[in-house]
Amino acid sequence: MEQQATEKRTVSPSDTAAPAPPKADLWSTVLQQLDDVAQRLGLNPGIHAILRQPERELTVAVPVLMDDGQIEVFTGYRVQHSSARGPCKGGLRYHLDVNLNEVRALAALMTWKCAVAGIPYGGAKGGVCCDPVRLSENELCRLTRRYTAMIMPIIGPKRDIPAPDVNTNPQVMAWIADTVSMLEFQTVIDIVTGKPVPLGGSLGRREATGRGVAIVTAELLRRKGRALAETTVAVQGYGNVGSSAATILNEMGCKIVAVSDVTGGLYNPHGLNIAAINEHVARHPRGWLEGYSAPDVERITNEELLTIDAHVLIPAALEHQLRADNAARVQAEMIIEGANGPTTREADEILNDRGVVVVPDILANAGGVVVSYFEWVQDLQCFFWDEDEVNRHLKRIIVRSFDEVWAFSEAHKVPLRLGAYMLAVDRVAEALQARGIFP
Ligand code: GLU
Repeated sequence: MEQQATEKRTVSPSDTAAPAPPKADLWSTVLQQLDDVAQRLGLNPGIHAILRQPERELTVAVPVLMDDGQIEVFTGYRVQHSSARGPCKGGLRYHLDVNLNEVRALAALMTWKCAVAGIPYGGAKGGVCCDPVRLSENELCRLTRRYTAMIMPIIGPKRDIPAPDVNTNPQVMAWIADTVSMLEFQTVIDIVTGKPVPLGGSLGRREATGRGVAIVTAELLRRKGRALAETTVAVQGYGNVGSSAATILNEMGCKIVAVSDVTGGLYNPHGLNIAAINEHVARHPRGWLEGYSAPDVERITNEELLTIDAHVLIPAALEHQLRADNAARVQAEMIIEGANGPTTREADEILNDRGVVVVPDILANAGGVVVSYFEWVQDLQCFFWDEDEVNRHLKRIIVRSFDEVWAFSEAHKVPLRLGAYMLAVDRVAEALQARGIFP
């Protein structure tokens, strides 16, 4: 799974038919951030207006024949925020909290992320409101294939390329590629990234987001003059992103003192045994931390993890985990946003005032989409790279992006998030200006 939800939920059919509005709206967070940046950049009002609305939005009602013979209808979305800098790019999320505003926000974050990383894409996101834990493998397959068929008119290797996100994985990507290939009577593997390696996936894609998080953490620590071996880290979310980040940072010498997932957290101030935890997760039928025990390991809640005593906090679960009610209690000196939108605007302000350095999502978790870009390039050329080459190029791009955001933020005397957003919006605006308005 690309990222991991933080709470376990059960669902009745009525939940899937009428998704409840989210507690806090990520889309309004993203719009406020854009408005703020537009003002600081003195952005052309027309360009600002263009960026305030997604280019294209598709809502689909996805009927699925369930294993018990009943039909259930799920609501799915694909939102293309911007294609100014290239084909739209972004993941597909399966979660009960998925709604149009969340998908809009996540699509816009992809536009900024690709611009910060300097890769030739715009931004998109997809989602289906469902609880994948409740669905069998066959139901997930049918849901994915029907959703794919329904969004096919707007996706394509040069239009919009989906990828994994929360609760979707290489298998889901394989079903998407196969569905499009069957309907188009040709092999279309470049329609998605994050595929299994035997189907044109890239080596290194699975760990790419976590590796990018680790590279960014190392870059920040270097600038702060703190040795990796003297650094303690807490990671919220032990899905694809959190587990890879924890594993790679541990290999680099950091002490991982706390990790958590939907089932709760583990804490050991002397450092957790990440290899043993990974073995446990690999054996667990759902890949969860549940049931893991070891001497000196204390069970903690997700909420406790966020405020635990560690130098670095990596929220790598869902959005709006750091809020006005807990930001003042965060003990970490540095926050690396592995998830998309884990910090509310209020929390961001509190953390800034307290001098906590926050590396924003659009930079910190860009490693995934960067290796997605490499996968797409490899698929288009039908020429595949070895893993060292993938990791070398990933490091080069993430370090370059970090340097650019750092320098820009210093020059403008703004926090890293604002610097990253200003850089991103400026790059997208430049592309829009160069293209002009059609017709
Ligand atoms: N879902 C990931 C993200 O939020 C990856 C997107 C992609 O590879 O296109 O960045």
